[in-house]
Amino acid sequence: MKKNFAIIGLGRFGGSICRTLIEAGQEVLVMDKSEERVNEYMNIATHAVMANAQDEATLKSLGIRNFDHVIVAIGEDIQASILVTLMAKELGVPFITAKAQNEYHARVLEKIGADKVVHPERDMGKRIAHHLVSKNILDYLELSDEFSLAEIRVTNKKFCQKSLLTLNFRQKFNVTVVAIRRGKNELIVSPSASEIVLIEDCLLVVGSTDCVRNLDDKLGST
Ligand code: ATP
Repeated sequence: MKKNFAIIGLGRFGGSICRTLIEAGQEVLVMDKSEERVNEYMNIATHAVMANAQDEATLKSLGIRNFDHVIVAIGEDIQASILVTLMAKELGVPFITAKAQNEYHARVLEKIGADKVVHPERDMGKRIAHHLVSKNILDYLELSDEFSLAEIRVTNKKFCQKSLLTLNFRQKFNVTVVAIRRGKNELIVSPSASEIVLIEDCLLVVGSTDCVRNLDDKLGST
């Protein structure tokens, strides 16, 4: 479904969201107070506007409330991020995602009505740290305080050349295998019970964080 997005702030975060939304066929208006940034996105975004988003009249004249989703991607200037989020909310934007610099900033954004607050630096730091402490964890996402999704490489031969049915991860480890990545190009989504696990396969598993860690220890040992 095609949606209308407005992105305020064209740093690396806002810019990367813009490119991805455009690739996904969405309509994207971008706004930045820097002429250089706006010029960079002139031929990428659907519309690019140079303006200070802290000016309420500008937000109104752009019809900000008619956008389905506004992304406030201003980072360093916390005051501007808060003010723009507040004005977008007051003008009636249905859904606002705002980028937080730190926990205090996040709390304020939530209080003033941001529908989703994201912490890209913190979250990417966590993902990379999990990868650093285990050479078998290739990627890691916290789904909630309790549950995680991890991509774990199988290097323990005990788990190879056996079907998922025999390995019985759900009963033995309390995790669900949602996909298997094999080699560079093959991704087996929702693998059947008869799927045979091969050495160097990467299992995408979901489970409680403790169970995922426990499985990581077993799949990685030899
Ligand atoms: P990133 O990590 O995404 O690169 P950042 O967290 O360092 O960015 P900033 O560089 O502070 O964030 O801001 C991102 C962009 O937002 C910048 O291009 C900046 O010009 C723009 N910006 C900041 N304040 C405003 C404002 N009031 N109106 C419009 N654009 C703004």
